[in-house]
Amino acid sequence: MEFKQNQRPGAVKQITSHSNPIVKEIKGLVAQRKHRRQSGLFVAEGLKLATDALEAGWGVRYLALGPEARENKIALEAAAKAKARGALILEVNTAVLGAITRRDNPQMVVGVYEQQTLKLSDIDPKSATTWIALDRVRDPGNLGTIIRTGDAVGATGVILIDDTTDPFAVETVRATMGSLFHMPIVRCTADEFVEFRKSWPGPVVGTHLRGEKDYRAVEYKEPVILMMGNEQAGLSDKLADTCSDLVKIPQAGQADSMNLAVATAVMLYEVRRNYLKL
Ligand code: SAM
Repeated sequence: MEFKQNQRPGAVKQITSHSNPIVKEIKGLVAQRKHRRQSGLFVAEGLKLATDALEAGWGVRYLALGPEARENKIALEAAAKAKARGALILEVNTAVLGAITRRDNPQMVVGVYEQQTLKLSDIDPKSATTWIALDRVRDPGNLGTIIRTGDAVGATGVILIDDTTDPFAVETVRATMGSLFHMPIVRCTADEFVEFRKSWPGPVVGTHLRGEKDYRAVEYKEPVILMMGNEQAGLSDKLADTCSDLVKIPQAGQADSMNLAVATAVMLYEVRRNYLKL
């Protein structure tokens, strides 16, 4: 990639104007999936996410520091690390930070990172414990929460099947609270998953409102894949047919179903029960 003058990696650049081309580029990454897809980049807000990304070794393209960050030891250390890795450090004012993230009270640091996803063929069942497979997840908050919960219970990673919400959308990244940088994300189609599943050595447990087994009555022998359905349509028949078990979380009140992220959390605490000790 070629960098224009003052945009060379590992440099520091002051920006005060909203119409600066780099500011426009970052705003485009926040606003449009198309820009994220074309560039392979995404935006994550906050110092915690910057330190998570840097610790986990993710590629960083820009790190924008507001005035507060330039007085903050941890932010300056993050900037030094990012610069050493070739990032362009942007010194910006609060108005520019707000414009980038479309927030009145922006975080003091905003980073632009390189997307990382895997293919099904990258999954090694021998080193896997629990993969979470999501059928056409639509809501960025749900996806971010599931990634965060998966990280919290020590799951191996998340498989996104077919057309899903963008894991690199700013709302999703925000909801992961940094777990995005620690959880491998695999993308595939339903047909690819069905094929992959044929050689999977462990159970594939689907959650379904028509499931006939109580989720507490199943043995989740590793390596296990936990399969969750779409918010509106539930699990597709094609994916449900690949499951070794279809389980249900019992309900007592009037709700038709539980929220996807909540149901995933309930399932994960059962699947990972023997590993989660205080
Ligand atoms: N109308 C959809 C249906 O009929 O499946 C409801 C989908 S529900 C909001 C989204 C996903 O959360 C489901 O596909 C399933 O994976 C999970 N889920 C929610 N409540 C559940 C329950 N009580 N038992 C099992 N899975 C549940």
